[in-house]
Amino acid sequence: TARAVTPELTADDLDQERNLRPQTLADYCGQARVRENLRVLIDAAKSRHEPLDHVLFSGPPGLGKTTLAAIVANEMGTSMHATSGPAIERAGDLAAVLTNLEEGDVLFIDEIHRLNHNIEEVLYPAMEDFFLDIVIGKGPAARSIRLDVPRFTLVGATTRTGLLTGPLRDRFGISYRLDFYRVEELAQIVLRSAGILGVAIDEGGAMEIASRSRGTPRLANRLLKRVRDYAQVKAEGDVTWQVAAEALSFFEIDELGLDWMDQKVLGALCRTFRGRPVGLSTLSSAVGEDASTLEDVYEPFLLQQGLIVRTPQGRKATLAAFEHLGIPFVGD
Ligand code: ADP
Repeated sequence: TARAVTPELTADDLDQERNLRPQTLADYCGQARVRENLRVLIDAAKSRHEPLDHVLFSGPPGLGKTTLAAIVANEMGTSMHATSGPAIERAGDLAAVLTNLEEGDVLFIDEIHRLNHNIEEVLYPAMEDFFLDIVIGKGPAARSIRLDVPRFTLVGATTRTGLLTGPLRDRFGISYRLDFYRVEELAQIVLRSAGILGVAIDEGGAMEIASRSRGTPRLANRLLKRVRDYAQVKAEGDVTWQVAAEALSFFEIDELGLDWMDQKVLGALCRTFRGRPVGLSTLSSAVGEDASTLEDVYEPFLLQQGLIVRTPQGRKATLAAFEHLGIPFVGD
């Protein structure tokens, strides 16, 4: 069964993400610093009639990186073309994408840290000087041809900037790290989405959903839909604080927004490893979850909440984690 709180995209999200997704900077809630910054840069680029400089967004899944890329294109009055690092397998794929762009378009590359290194090399001159050097043919007959590409804006997204190669990172003129959202910001997103979905909800209901959404808009929207379902069947329809709390407990999401996988991670650190530091791969096999998923998807929120800490010897549970699980503290 699908975890209600996976921040990654599921099929269920896809149909509704389209209309819940804010189209303009003004509609985009939270991340005030990024929003204000982009406002200035976009207005300046527009008044110079130039494309925006290349932008890199980093941060955990579901925080609004793709949304911002689409907003950049929309605010610049151009179109966005979306692809992802792993989808570009050969230099020819990249050439096809780039030569199809119109002047000023946004090329969005999700998971840009997973770009093949040979392709990165082809991308550098395209980013800097808007041309491509493509090698055609093999052996002695091989020759290189130069293709001009339209002046475009590359918007890259990555879960962690640390995974990007230095030369690639350096070629982004603008770089932002998205942080987890505050509860009030998420409540604003929940109210906005409820309006679009036609769900009757009060402030208390929105705050309750927001506080269990792990700081993540995608989860806030998803929990709103689950709560709506629950309210339809079990309550009289309106989503109040009480209905939301009941519904979320019913779906086994605790007051911090942790679900069974988070609890499993904390449980392993507190019980199995008794508060001692544990390496990523050991933890990964203990809970049966892929190491990179643990690192990109689960750990950032647990770290931010102070439930785990990273030490040179590995990650370990904090006093707060023991308290949250209601087990006696055995760490140091
Ligand atoms: P990412 O690319 O970082 O994984 P997305 O941009 O796909 O995240 O965001 C997931 C969903 O969350 C979007 O479809 C949108 O509905 C919602 N969302 C994200 N950021 C915001 C925001 N700042 N305001 C309102 N909704 C947002």
